[in-house]
Amino acid sequence: MFYGFDVGGTKIEFGAFNDRLERMATERVPTPGDDYPKLVETLASLVEKYDAQFGVEGLIGFGLPGMEDPKDDTILTVNVPAAKGKPLRFDLESRIGRSVKIENDANCFALSEAWDEELKDEKSVMGLILGTGFGGGIIHEGKVFSGRNHVAGEVGHTRLPIDAWFHLGDNAPLLDCGCGKKGCLDSYLSGRGFELIYAHYFSEKKKAVEIISAFYEGEAKACEHVERFMELLAICLANIFTAYDPHVVTLGGGLSNFDLIYDEMPKRVPKYLLSVSSCPKIIKAKHGDSGGVRGAAFLNIR
Ligand SMILES: [Zn+2]
Repeated sequence: MFYGFDVGGTKIEFGAFNDRLERMATERVPTPGDDYPKLVETLASLVEKYDAQFGVEGLIGFGLPGMEDPKDDTILTVNVPAAKGKPLRFDLESRIGRSVKIENDANCFALSEAWDEELKDEKSVMGLILGTGFGGGIIHEGKVFSGRNHVAGEVGHTRLPIDAWFHLGDNAPLLDCGCGKKGCLDSYLSGRGFELIYAHYFSEKKKAVEIISAFYEGEAKACEHVERFMELLAICLANIFTAYDPHVVTLGGGLSNFDLIYDEMPKRVPKYLLSVSSCPKIIKAKHGDSGGVRGAAFLNIR
């Protein structure tokens, strides 16, 4: 049995999956504010409860918005105060008496998609989230490729490529990022970025869904914006594809529901790739909100 925990700022979702990767149990509990002992106890007691229910010792994986510090294995996170700076994996392993895996939630999202029935035989799968932020994960032969510092796939904090800068022109917005740098893709390709770019060029704040529906009605500003954004996305994706060369790319997050992306990228991406390369298949994520808990559980596959 595979146990997955998706630990978020306000709630923890637990899921248990059998060997056929079918979900056998789901439970949601509130995340204990900044009470670390309570967080450890909450997680451990869920493990014990489902061990008893299924009569097994489940394999345990955690996904959270953050990562382990490669220097001392403490948790680097902003959104889960209780875990911040704490050796969560070590303390859980001591408390539960078995090994535990922890990964970034974007890597869990990618892993969940990679183990979808249609994709599980693909050699590599890249998951990209176009949501509140822009981030992703790389799955190679069914495993997360995390890198030395656990930052592999953090494409949201690479900076705009020169082609993007030329494309945006003289009035290009140089946007601040939460990481402290300027010009990170996170500020341009996320749903938030989609709105920020619109606001920059038209001095008008609009929600992404409003811009997209105006685009489908043929409204001039929305059409100009979508044209600008699609080319920007193509340029940035092409750079990412040149670096990682994934076999399949799956998109999640709110903006991934903008279906035009799947028509436009195969047309626009190739001109920014090396001549020997071609655009990988780009598809919409299938597991959406349950990606975090599925991916966390699947950290222990194989
Ligand atoms: Zn950044």
